[in-house]
Amino acid sequence: MAGTRLETAAGHNGPMSRRKPRPKPAPAAPAVRPEGPCPCGLPAPYAECCGRFHAGDAKAPTAERLMRSRYSAFVTRDEPYLLRTWSPATRPHAVDFDPDTRWEGLEVLDTTDGTLFHTTGTVTFTARYTHRGEPGALRERSRFEKADGGWLYVDGTFD
Ligand SMILES: [Zn+2]
Repeated sequence: MAGTRLETAAGHNGPMSRRKPRPKPAPAAPAVRPEGPCPCGLPAPYAECCGRFHAGDAKAPTAERLMRSRYSAFVTRDEPYLLRTWSPATRPHAVDFDPDTRWEGLEVLDTTDGTLFHTTGTVTFTARYTHRGEPGALRERSRFEKADGGWLYVDGTFD
């Protein structure tokens, strides 16, 4: 889903606090069980939903499914998946996960194009999170493009 702004909105510490060592090891990513609910909010179990895409067993067929799978990859901190579903034109060198942020839920608000019959598409969504216990929400309109038969995240705009 979201680009570098997602990590920023999720609570980047900024240049000052980044110099301080973390007082304790970062908590691990929340466990997502194969048979458990998929973080993206669709009714299928994780293994049959975004887990197939994360494992490389299938490619997300629509821009919305790719967006959902990237949200789930932020939840599970699957950096390789996020990087390989990022357009080379905008892809960062690394994904900077904020260990203090917990992603709490995703709501897809709108889509344009992005189906099997398109080469571009947009997905507008709200992602809810808590950052050090404080609830927040990120609203983004993401742009996607299809390349080599798979959807890639390009960039996003924010309200
Ligand atoms: Zn899913």
